[in-house]
Amino acid sequence: MANTGKRFQGKVAIVTASTQGIGFGIAERLGLEGASVVISSRRQKNVDEAVEKLKARGIEALGLVCHVSNAQHRKSLVEKTVQKYGKIDVVVSNAAANPSVDPILETKESVLDKLWEINVKASILLLQDAAPHLQKGSSVILISSMAAYQPQASMAMYGVTKTALLGLTKALAAEMGPDTRVNCVAPGIVPTHFADFITRTEEIRKATEEKTLLNRLGTTEDMAAATAFLASDDASYITGETLVVAGGIPSRL
Ligand code: NAP
Repeated sequence: MANTGKRFQGKVAIVTASTQGIGFGIAERLGLEGASVVISSRRQKNVDEAVEKLKARGIEALGLVCHVSNAQHRKSLVEKTVQKYGKIDVVVSNAAANPSVDPILETKESVLDKLWEINVKASILLLQDAAPHLQKGSSVILISSMAAYQPQASMAMYGVTKTALLGLTKALAAEMGPDTRVNCVAPGIVPTHFADFITRTEEIRKATEEKTLLNRLGTTEDMAAATAFLASDDASYITGETLVVAGGIPSRL
């Protein structure tokens, strides 16, 4: 773990889909920098275990079950955060699904709906609930993907939903300024459960590493550091932007 400052002392941060992987890494980083963090995911057991891990590191943490496409769960996430901590300073919208490897033209309507619902719509609806509680100087981070710029064949529609988040970042930055900044992080490849299919064999892993300019995969800490930067006052003049954190894998100019 990198040296951390205390940029989030007194701040309250909600991170969705945060009981493992990148979301957990972000919650841990914000917490180590002083934030009270509200973590959540679909399964109570995962929530309980993650809260324990954060508390063991001295982090103030509240854990709740929140399947991001469930309206009641989202409402309760915001309400319980405000009940306990009184306000919201940071929202990191991190949940995503990638339920199919079918080509777009062969993807079932129900799968198209699920991709839109979890990867895009749930972020908007959560922010609708959270907006009245966001403080002056608050910050929203959407977690996209480098697939937003170059959708891969096996995950093309997922990539398109991540492209939508780049536009959503711009649109919400215009709508939520000047009090709230809205930015986006586009991770490269990080060996989490989600990316298991890319990293599980040594051969595929090596080929993936070679696509980067730094000859390694990303870590959850890399993603957390970039997210913490954008969420912090160090980025107080940055809004509507996407930071690609992909070790130089080609994305955009
Ligand atoms: P991960 O390690 O598989 O973790 C997923 C987390 O999300 C778990 O805590 C899971 O817990 C929770 N979750 C899953 N579905 C959920 C839902 N519908 N509602 C609420 N929580 C849910 O995934 P990850 O790799 O960290 O991915 C996080 C984000 O990074 C995603 O937006 C993904 O698109 C993006 N990303 C990842 C990579 C990569 O290489 N890993 C690259 C680019 C972008 P439960 O099972 O308890 O719900």
